[in-house]
This record gives sequence, C-alpha cells and structure tokens, in this order.
Amino acid sequence: PVVLGVESSCDETGFGIVSEGTLLGQGLASSASQHAEFGGVVPEIAARAHLDAAVPILQIALHDAGVELGDITHVAATSGPGLATAVHVGLAAAKSVAWALDVPLFGVHHLAGHAAADTLEHGPLPERSIVLIVSGGHTSILAIGDLVRDPIEHLGDTLDDAAGEAFDKVARLLGLGYPGGPVISRAAVDGDPAAFRFPRAMMRSGDPAYTFSFSGLKTAVARTVETIERAGDPVPVADIAASFEQAVVDVLVAKAVRAVKDHGLDTLVIVGGVAANARLRAVAAERCEAEGIELRIPPPRLCTDNGAMIAAVGDLLVRADADPSGLGIAADPSAVLHGAQLPLPA
Ligand code: ATP
Ligand code: MG
Ligand code: FE
Repeated sequence: PVVLGVESSCDETGFGIVSEGTLLGQGLASSASQHAEFGGVVPEIAARAHLDAAVPILQIALHDAGVELGDITHVAATSGPGLATAVHVGLAAAKSVAWALDVPLFGVHHLAGHAAADTLEHGPLPERSIVLIVSGGHTSILAIGDLVRDPIEHLGDTLDDAAGEAFDKVARLLGLGYPGGPVISRAAVDGDPAAFRFPRAMMRSGDPAYTFSFSGLKTAVARTVETIERAGDPVPVADIAASFEQAVVDVLVAKAVRAVKDHGLDTLVIVGGVAANARLRAVAAERCEAEGIELRIPPPRLCTDNGAMIAAVGDLLVRADADPSGLGIAADPSAVLHGAQLPLPA
C-alpha cells in the first residue's frame, strides 16, 4: 500500500505518504504566523489557509516521496477531534482525492495519529504501553495496545488547560507571541528553572494519580508578573519561562512514569506538540533511565501536527485489513478517544 495522510485539524496543513511503516515523504504548511496577533488560532483564518495550501502541499508531499498521485492506493484523513471548519477542508480534500483515484478512504482520530507518529521513527509499538499525549488541546495518559485492534484506555486527563494551551497562555502574558511552546522554550534557555517555585497541581497523595490541572499554574505566573510590574521592576522573562517550563515538565513526567509502573509496563511513549520540548525530553529521559523504562519520543517535527502521522495510522489500518470509513464519513470535531476503535465509523 501507498497511503496518503491528510491533516487539517488546527493550523497545520499536512500531507504525508507512508508505505509499510516507512515515511516516504511529506509536505507541511502552517498558518501560525497569521494567528500570532490574536494569541491563538482563529478557526476561519485556519480554514482559509488550509484551502490555499491543500494542493501545493500535496504536490510537495508527492515530490518529496517521489511518487505520482496515481500511485496512491489509500487515503486517510483526520476526521476529528479539531476545529470543525479546519477539519472540513482537509477531509473534503481527502474525499476528492479518494473519489478521483477510486481508492478507499479512512477517517483517522487525530490523537491516534499523534501516537502513531512514533512508529515512523521507532517501529511498531510494543504489545502494551503508556502514552502521554501532550498537545495544544489535550493532556492525557492512555494505555494502548494494538492501535488498530484494541480499544484505547483513557487513564486520565487535564481538568482545565492542556499543557500546550498553558504554554500558549503564558507566552501571551509574557508578550512572547504564538505558538507559545517554541518561544517559551527559547526564552527559558538562559533562565534559572529554580528561580520561581510555581505550583505543581494534583501531586498530593489524595489527588487522582493521572489527572492534571494547569490553570492554577498559569494564574500563579500571571500574579508573579503583575507583582513585579507593580513594583516597577523589569520582568525576568527567562527565569519565569524556565521556572514555568520546569513546573509543567515535573508534573507530566511524574504522572506518566507512575502510570507505567502502576500498570506493570516498561514502555512510555510521549507524543503531541509539547513532546517537542527539550526540557520535557531531557527530564523524561533521565527519569525513565533511572526507572528502567524504555522511553520513545518521536523527533520534534513528528511531534507537532503533520500529515505523516495520519498516513501512519492509515497504513496500520490497511495492513490490518480494516474496513474503510467510506466517502460518506463526516467530521467529528469532538471525537473522544476513550474506548475508541479504529477506524472511526462513518
Ligand atoms: P490537539 O493535538 O490536542 O488537537 P493541536 O493539534 O493544536 O492540539 P499540536 O500541534 O499537537 O496541538 O501541538 C501544538 C502545541 O504544542 C501548542 O500548544 C504549542 O505551544 C506546543 N508546542 C510546540 N512546540 C513546543 C515546545 N518546543 N515546547 C512546548 N510546547 C510546544
Ligand atoms: Mg499547530
Ligand atoms: Fe495535534
């Protein structure tokens, strides 16, 4: 099979081509710069940008992979979750290609895509593993088996902001722009992660083990900035960024490692845009090494949204002989993952 994957759930337009677990090539565009002045993604702007980018980025992916459009044997597209208007554009593009080529179409759960991204770098996932998904809209700990055959078990979530959302909000209040992850990370390089002791929520003994909360952390950062400004002092952006980042990372790694141990497993997979974070990667590597846990994190370019990860799920589905969703599949902007069976039904 030569599987084309299409991603358009947020502000990245991604097309990727995967065959038998191997990434042949991809094309990627982002409308992030068009959202910067708003401090977050504007759905209508994102949808227009997907429409502009779709054909050129598909051409880039085909060129990068060295295949012709006619070589595509299956199409997979994100059908949810995501911004409805944004998902619609990519899904419509995917339907057009599948119809024109008369090949099967699979609707793919965006978060299954994030998880599958790792298989492109590190090969098939083990029989069972813990997956920490940390992205712009999600912070979840999952127990997964065979991505295609086994239902996904949702162990815990965030009660409020997602980890990536916390990065985006803190970046905005520090005046650093959007998306927040990369700019905070850059600012944090010269900062002292111990300069401020920001709260680590949900870490007390009675707290639910796999539940997160990041809105109190964001508020604590905002109060700190206000207090410093009121005193007329310069805001130590690097120290605040580093201390904030450390607080997020400490909680993420502690809970993910705990989930692996509680379930008697030996593999932790970290995926999603925040998995591109260098401090998270370093702290997770250190903790996993100490605990004898195998850590898998895709390279940064496969952590943030892309078409390759969607193609990776499509490729798994095809090789597992799964039934396609069909051209009638609708977007499901709030698709849930708990107990989800792939492929998503039409
Ligand atoms: P979801 O996958 O939950 O639907 P999304 O698709 O918008 O949300 P991703 O593209 O997976 O999210 O990730 C984007 C998020 O990752 C943004 O919040 C961004 O700030 C964050 N991010 C990207 N790079 C980094 C980084 N180096 N450090 C921390 N966060 C980062
Ligand atoms: Mg994005
Ligand atoms: Fe995503």
